[in-house]
Amino acid sequence: MDSIYEKRPWLKNYPDWAPHDLDLTSETALGDFKKSAALNPEAPAIYYFDHEISCGKVDRLSDQLAVAFENLGLKKGERIILDLQNVPQFPIAAYAAWKIGAIVVPLNPMYKEKELAYFCRDSGARLFLTLDEIASNLDLSFLEHTSIEKVITTSPLDFLPLGADPPDILKRPRKIAVPGAMDMLEMIEAFQGKTPNEPGIAPEDVAYLTYTSGTTGPPKGAMNTHGNIAFNARVYQAMQRIDSHDVVLGVAPLFHVTGEVAHLAIAALAGIPLVLYYRFDPGETLHLIERWKVTVTVASITAYIALLNHPDIKKRDLSSFVKAYSGGAPVSEATVNQFEEATGLYLYNVYGMTETNSPSHIVPWGTRAPVDSESGALSVGVPVPGCVMKIMDLDEGTRELSPGEVGEIVDSGPIVIPGYWQKPEETTHAIRNGWLYTGDVGKMDEDGWFYLVDRKKDMIVASGYKVWPRDVEDVIYQHPAVKETAVVGEPDPYRGETVKAFVALKAGMEDAVTAEEIVSFCKARMAAYKYPRTVEFVSEIPKTLTGKFLRRTLRDRGKPQKSVEENV
Ligand code: AMP
Repeated sequence: MDSIYEKRPWLKNYPDWAPHDLDLTSETALGDFKKSAALNPEAPAIYYFDHEISCGKVDRLSDQLAVAFENLGLKKGERIILDLQNVPQFPIAAYAAWKIGAIVVPLNPMYKEKELAYFCRDSGARLFLTLDEIASNLDLSFLEHTSIEKVITTSPLDFLPLGADPPDILKRPRKIAVPGAMDMLEMIEAFQGKTPNEPGIAPEDVAYLTYTSGTTGPPKGAMNTHGNIAFNARVYQAMQRIDSHDVVLGVAPLFHVTGEVAHLAIAALAGIPLVLYYRFDPGETLHLIERWKVTVTVASITAYIALLNHPDIKKRDLSSFVKAYSGGAPVSEATVNQFEEATGLYLYNVYGMTETNSPSHIVPWGTRAPVDSESGALSVGVPVPGCVMKIMDLDEGTRELSPGEVGEIVDSGPIVIPGYWQKPEETTHAIRNGWLYTGDVGKMDEDGWFYLVDRKKDMIVASGYKVWPRDVEDVIYQHPAVKETAVVGEPDPYRGETVKAFVALKAGMEDAVTAEEIVSFCKARMAAYKYPRTVEFVSEIPKTLTGKFLRRTLRDRGKPQKSVEENV
């Protein structure tokens, strides 16, 4: 078939300096890091708050921890859970795991016993490495019915100089001893000067099991291979034009694919420092951008909005921060403009998912994304080098659609994971003949720019018409009193499903508008089948740590249980 997509019409939007293809590398993020460390051991690998940790030190400590893992009998291919905030122990433990060929299972530190038990059992991990403050707040008996043999704890204060006044978000007792747990620093110290017997890792070996929410059923472990991660680090290097002068801000959680690739793997590849600071805090972020002259990051739009609303935004010198990328959730043109007016910085869009190891589409650095004249949506960018993406029909997914037509986005190339951990059925459903069915609905314009419409599973069918929640939300956002909104489908005896909007109003505007007024506002601005029939006010729209609105939580309000996947 003569496919328009195979011709990659988007390549003409690449800047002159951006390669159309990237060589498949036999490297891994660990290999990249070791090369950078050998070249310049004194160079900073990590800035943890105001303190520096050199490449040589990270290499040495991860060697020693790898020996400790070996001594516990860990072998190639076995799993190690990292339940950590963004602390230096994450890269050190990840490199240590990879040095013995083990697989890292990064988890959201907000998980509680029931969720953790699921991930421990599903991954079959033998080690559970977490923060002392997390372990001491858990009832560790949940581990009894899992494969976990040892708990290792570490303190977020461990890599701050002794006696230093900790930053505000780390104000806590020095270190918590957790009964029965081993201490990560003591394990490292026990093997001074030792190096592990590295079994070697190949590009097809799994680097991470990154859990992702299931549309139905429990979370699935996406198998991000070493080859996937190393390739996509090169994608960022190419499209963000990263060189040795860049400094990357670790604002996305390291347990999410954005942190794994857009922070850790790119820092390893380019040999540049990664700024870590436990977890996102707007004031600390602004301070650290100025302090370390940060140039690049990928963060959620929620984080950028928090920066925008922080009183320090005008006080800090952000002039170094020229590669500010927003990914993981929809971004409106209005927000990009607002951010630019306040800071002078343009927000670049980047789109991807756990299954594509972060970026599949990106706005090349120095290029402004077009806005779709029909829907007003900001483009998520162009497909990354060396990959082909298509738009397929929404029913069977077998018919390629023309530019401008709305369908499911499917991706192919070295960015796609080989599958889900021990879930062959889900793998076959998601990846068909090498094409990943993303579950995202969107279109490509004649010039090869891609636009997202919504998630396929969030589609509402009202009186037989397809309604995309984002279309409705975009209109509600135009109301001056609205801070946030999320639109969902509600069962309706007559229309099958009907449209319901949850709305959070801006501070001080709580009494300024009624639900009926919001309904009328929408009715005047959109087709009759689309406008919300009910509006419910909430104080806040629930979100994941990566900034996604939890429409499902809203839809299920009132139902007793809360599923694991909602938190991912
Ligand atoms: P995750 O696997 O947690 O990274 O989530 C991936 C999903 O986030 C994608 O399938 C999209 O639905 C959404 N997403 C990621 N990036 C963007 C973006 N730039 N704009 C809109 N939605 C996005």
